[in-house]
Formats: sequence, structure tokens, C-alpha cells
Amino acid sequence: MTQRVTNWARNITYTAREYHRPRSLDALRSLVAAATRLRVLGSGHSFNRIADPGADGDLVSIAGLPPVLDVDTAARTVRVAGGVRYAELARTVHARGLALPNLASLPHISVAGSVATGTHGSGVGNGSLAAAVREVELLTADGSTVVVTRGDARFDGAVTSLGALGVVTALTLGLEPAYEVEQHVFTELPLAGLDFETVAAAAYSVSLFTDWREPGFRQVWLKRRTDQAPPVFPWAAPATEAMHPVPGMSAVNCTPQFGEPGPWHERLPHFKADFTPSNGDELQSEYLLPRSAALDALHALDAIRGTVAPVLQTCEVRTVAADPQWLGPAHGRDSVALHFTWVDDMPAVLPVVRRLEEALDPFGPRPHWGKVFTASASVLRGRYPRLDDFLALARSLDPAGKFANDFVRDALGE
Ligand SMILES: Cc1cc2nc3c(=O)[nH]c(=O)nc-3n(C[C@H](O)[C@H](O)[C@H](O)COP(=O)(O)OP(=O)(O)OC[C@H]3O[C@@H](n4cnc5c(N)ncnc54)[C@H](O)[C@@H]3O)c2cc1C
Repeated sequence: MTQRVTNWARNITYTAREYHRPRSLDALRSLVAAATRLRVLGSGHSFNRIADPGADGDLVSIAGLPPVLDVDTAARTVRVAGGVRYAELARTVHARGLALPNLASLPHISVAGSVATGTHGSGVGNGSLAAAVREVELLTADGSTVVVTRGDARFDGAVTSLGALGVVTALTLGLEPAYEVEQHVFTELPLAGLDFETVAAAAYSVSLFTDWREPGFRQVWLKRRTDQAPPVFPWAAPATEAMHPVPGMSAVNCTPQFGEPGPWHERLPHFKADFTPSNGDELQSEYLLPRSAALDALHALDAIRGTVAPVLQTCEVRTVAADPQWLGPAHGRDSVALHFTWVDDMPAVLPVVRRLEEALDPFGPRPHWGKVFTASASVLRGRYPRLDDFLALARSLDPAGKFANDFVRDALGE
């Protein structure tokens, strides 16, 4: 490939024969039909080789296709092109008086790329972003379009698909009436005596942040819907200045705090849509485990904080409601998500990731598909009861493995 294409964090340079940016669906269809190996690159916010087709493959961005954003206000749905980012989607549906149930920490990520990896926000009652999907339009290996609608036996394999089934050209998402959210930040929540279930349910979306330099949490972010009860949070003191999740960084790019109400899409992400979330000098890992094990897992982490803290920028603890998606990291279990923003130094970070995975192993952690992890296919096989169903679906839609890559083979064992 003559052009050097990297992910957002710049820790991955994609190997591919060629990088394509088709401008029409027909051009994309011809590309797919002619390719022997092909992967789509979304907004490139993953930290591993999940989007890499390999040296004999083609890498395709569909961001240049017509940006379909068809809102059906009566049905409360939106049909959105796969390459559209959440920021644009959110602005469009909000302008029609509608909303998505949840968003990730930043709105700069593409819709198809996000749901493909099981991307999520927080909230004990909120599923991952894939939970909003009603229909997936897939351009498959032979260039034909397959539409998989909720209720179809294949649907629970077709959304969080790691990009391995075909090109997601469009998705239909369920919406609800627009709502307002206020954000409250608290500081210094002790781990000792923590009632995790009550804290995690204290608002619509709750995030705990720590650098693990000391036990306990440096910050708690509560995102309260104004149509729900005011938060009661007696366990920590309200912040006296605007906070950034990474200690010491300016909060100028963070969404408004101090309980200032605002539209859902300007409060649910931690970072404003109009700003660069950070400079990309970071790596990330994240593990989802049963929420019932949250407290034990946090104590297991506390026990190795001397190993974790030196390479950690911030750790965020969120919750995700159970998900039926076969490869959804919250598949079949209400989950706690333990996220780590590391320093940008893979040789220093990888041994810590291994140690962390050992410490979390008793809780059956499922790694975020878009982040750094070392768990092997044999370990992951034990954690995804529907993995064989997914592999069978991939074989039926893509018998020659056009959309497979080394990442998927290594992770799923095929
Ligand atoms: C600063 C930052 C903050 C983040 N915050 C969160 C967070 O709050 N919660 C969370 O869960 N994750 C978070 N992530 C991770 C991120 O959401 C995921 O990595 C997600 O996959 C990013 O979407 P993308 O479009 O950039 O995907 P990419 O990295 O471009 O692609 C991911 C996968 O999707 C596939 N894909 C993309 N588009 C298509 C398509 N049209 N058809 C078929 N396959 C496709 C790719 O081939 C690849 O396999 C964050 C990442 C960063 C860098």
C-alpha cells in the first residue's frame, strides 16, 4: 500500500494491498465482488488489528458513501449508513425530537464499527450500543445484499460481528423521545465498604474513575436523566472544579458538569463532539465480567495496583446490561466493564495486561474486541457459549473467508 494508514492511536499501521474509498454503493459492490480478502475500516478507534485485512487484502473506508440518515418519527427509528459517526447521527435525530438510549464516552466513532466490537456506555439498565439495532444491511462476499432484521434467527450473530460477515452498509436503530441529562461529578469514593450495586444504580449512567495509585476512586460521574429522580450520593464529596477523567488534564474538552441540564447527546459522552478527545497518545484495554462479581474483581485489582498504576492513565468502571448478541461481551450477563487507558508504551503495557488478565481470570472476563488483550481463542471459546453459532453464520454468509483476517482467526479459533 503506497499510503500509510494508521488507527486513531497510531499504534497500528494497517497492512493491505490497497486502501479504497468508494463514493457509491455500486463501486463498493464491485470492489467486494472482486476482492479475495477485504476489511472495512470505520473511524479507526480500535487499538488492535481487528480491522486489518493483511498484506494480501483490501482495506475499505465507506465514509465517502452517501451519508444516509433517514429518521422515521412515527416508527421512532433511524436508518443510518454504516460509516456515519455517532456525533452526526445524534445531532440529526435530536433535531427530530428523538434520542438514542445511550452513547459511548466519545461521539467520534462510526456506528457500524462501534456495534461490530460491542462498544458501550454505562448504566445498569442500558445495553451496549448494539442493543439499539433493529436491522443490519450487509453487503456479502458475492456482492449481494442480505438484510437481517430483529426476529431473524441470525440477528443475534449479525450486529456484534467483528466485521467478519460482510460490509455493513446501513443499520436501522430504535429511538425514543429526546430527553435531557445533567452531569454531576463527585471525588474520592472509598473502596472499603463500597456498595457497588447501589452506587452503579445511583443514576441513568454511572462511571467510576481511578488511577489505582491509592485504593478507591478519584472521581464518580453521574449522568442523570432529568425525567428521573434526582441522584442521592452521600458517599463522596461533590467536585469543586470541572474534571477530566485523566488526572491533571484540562476539562476544556469534557461535556458540561455541575448539574447543568442539556440534551442527551451533549451529556452522555464524556467528551464534546466538537473537540478532539485527546491526542491519541494512549492504549486501551477493557474487560466485561458479571456485575455480581464487581466488588471481588475491584478488590482483585486493588491487590495488584502496584503493578497496574505505573502504566495507567486512568481506569473507568461502568456497567452494561445483558445482551443477546452471540459475540457481545455482555452476552447473557449483566456486566461490569473495567476499562484501562494506558500510557502509549506497548512493551511496558503488555506484561501488565497479562498480569491483569490473570487477576481477573476467576471472574471469566471477556475483553473488549476493539482494545488490547492477550486472551487466546481457547480461553475465549469458554467465555462465549454461542461462538460456534457465530462461526457457522460466518461460513454460511462468507464460505471462502473473504472477510476473515488474522485477528478474527486468532480470537475465534478459525
Ligand atoms: C478515545 C476512545 C474512546 C473510546 N471509548 C469507548 C467507550 O466509551 N466504550 C466502548 O465500548 N469503546 C470505546 N472505545 C473503543 C471504540 O468504540 C471501538 O474500538 C469501536 O470499534 C470504534 O469504532 P470504529 O468505527 O472506530 O471501529 P474500527 O476500529 O474502524 O473498526 C472496528 C471493527 O469494525 C469493523 N467495521 C467498521 N465499519 C464496518 C462496516 N461498515 N462494516 C463491517 N465492518 C465494519 C472493522 O472491520 C473492525 O473489525 C473508545 C476508543 C477510543 C479511541
